[in-house]
Amino acid sequence: MAIDQVLLLLFNHLSKHKKLVLNWAAIQLWQPKAFELLLKNHVMKATYKATNIRCQTCEKYCTVDVTRHDYPNNKIRYYAVCVDDYMHEQVGRMTIPPEQLQQWQCSTKQLLKIIARLLNIDNEITFSVNTEQTRLGMLAKEAGRKWVTLIHNPLALEINQIILPLEEILYFDGDSLTLDMDRVSYALNLKQPAHVKGYLPSVNQREKQRSKTQAMHQDWQDAAIKLKKKFPQYNKTWISKQIAKLPIAQGRNAETIRKSIDI
Ligand SMILES: [Zn+2]
Repeated sequence: MAIDQVLLLLFNHLSKHKKLVLNWAAIQLWQPKAFELLLKNHVMKATYKATNIRCQTCEKYCTVDVTRHDYPNNKIRYYAVCVDDYMHEQVGRMTIPPEQLQQWQCSTKQLLKIIARLLNIDNEITFSVNTEQTRLGMLAKEAGRKWVTLIHNPLALEINQIILPLEEILYFDGDSLTLDMDRVSYALNLKQPAHVKGYLPSVNQREKQRSKTQAMHQDWQDAAIKLKKKFPQYNKTWISKQIAKLPIAQGRNAETIRKSIDI
């Protein structure tokens, strides 16, 4: 998996669970570069070691407990046995390389800190997993000061009543995790009618926004497939640029479209 896909997977998971522990086997499905970038940008950090591991001997992929043995010469070895009796007899005790027990953690709280830093918001933020949203702080713009709120599920920033899904505005630009400041500024400076001031989006409205976003992504995907059929010699970047010119782009740039389509 490339970094964009991994990030999307993390956003989806964190939207539902707010915290995620990734084991060694999960990381193996990613491109090594993706793993490296997430660590470097503090999206993910090392956490406690796994006490069980998925058995790689049998076809049942059973989960086996790992036991630690300390040897007199300060050596530590980890062992596991397959829970299937027949396989156990065949294979015996399996030695588990210690690196396979490493685990990493990411959380909505950690993302929140990263976003606050990218927005230069440095006040104390109180985060609770039991709430639907967290206020990050206020940003000052020509139109006045506006609250920036992180919506937990699906992960999005809410600024001036505009919902900006994280999957669209938080991405890797080269080696750095970047926030789409153009979209943030646009949301900040948009003039909203006076009567809706002080309004917070309801779950219902967020759902509506979400399905609207999904519909837009589907439009891009359909167009991408059509274009690829018509112009098989052109690559994804070229195709994204064509879609960006269409009304279905809804003002999104080619790069956002490129990351969303799958051809
Ligand atoms: Zn097994």
